[in-house]
Amino acid sequence: VVAHFGRTLDVRAEGDDEPVRCHMRANLEGLVTGDRVIWRGRQDAEGAIVEGVVVARGERTSVLERPDARSQLKPVAANIDQILIVFAVEPEPHPNLIDRYLVAAEATGIAPALVLNKIDLLPEDGGALMALLHRYEALGYPVVATTTERENGLDALHARLAGNTSVFVGQSGVGKSSLIDRLLPDEELRIGALSKDSRKGTHTTTTARLYTLPSAEAAELIDSPGIREFGLGHLNEQQVAEGFIEFRDLLGHCRFRDCRHRQEPGCALLEALERGDIHPERFASYRRILDSLE
Ligand code: GDP
Ligand code: ZN
Repeated sequence: VVAHFGRTLDVRAEGDDEPVRCHMRANLEGLVTGDRVIWRGRQDAEGAIVEGVVVARGERTSVLERPDARSQLKPVAANIDQILIVFAVEPEPHPNLIDRYLVAAEATGIAPALVLNKIDLLPEDGGALMALLHRYEALGYPVVATTTERENGLDALHARLAGNTSVFVGQSGVGKSSLIDRLLPDEELRIGALSKDSRKGTHTTTTARLYTLPSAEAAELIDSPGIREFGLGHLNEQQVAEGFIEFRDLLGHCRFRDCRHRQEPGCALLEALERGDIHPERFASYRRILDSLE
């Protein structure tokens, strides 16, 4: 599914360029962009497939959800393998913000990676920011540096996109639109990602769309304004703690099974913090996220 508009979907056959407008069979619910489906096409007199019916949905490897107007979580895209969290040299990222995105990403089960954009603005001694990045790399997160202002400024990003279906998320102003414009420079590419019927539609700018990128091998991008704003959803304390990947092996080892990792004796997290195995800024982030949930 490369786009969806209510019960109408644009579906592209594996290896085909041209998407086809499809309807969902009545018993199907909640198909979203990125879903893999089984569908049947109707051919016109020339043998071209002109419309279709989706009859079944394949298993999902992942699903990205967003709260709707009534705060109910609704899927917006499926089968994403990578959440690219974009931040920039300017506006300067607060580590807590990066941690919030990471926790939200971890809760979806989709692998996050960090993209530092606008490296053309990096001061001569970009020391503090680079140290921050290395801290995340040491935790095991891929980190990619980009700039839209230089030739080859996206080389590392192309490598990261190859073979994956990715989404870009991040604060406003960090350069998500600019990055996506560079990855999809051709207006025809964007329009061609929709079926002929859907190109006339009025909702085409808000729905999540799946693009095949010309710039990297087997790279797909799912994008919509709603996805770019993806943030910390309705998480519970357990999910927040597990969203800090360096906490995971410790979580079962507190003296009290219902330990809240505040000041309990025998708390494995507090002991790791004491030993220096957990960075104090990460632990402070954890606390702030918990406080913001309460
Ligand atoms: P978004 O809100 O995340 O989509 O951010 P935009 O793509 O709208 O970019 C915000 C501003 O940052 C714009 O003025 C861009 O021209 C600028 N910008 C984007 N990428 C870069 C970059 O790599 N270097 C510099 N110096 N500016 C950039
Ligand atoms: Zn504890």
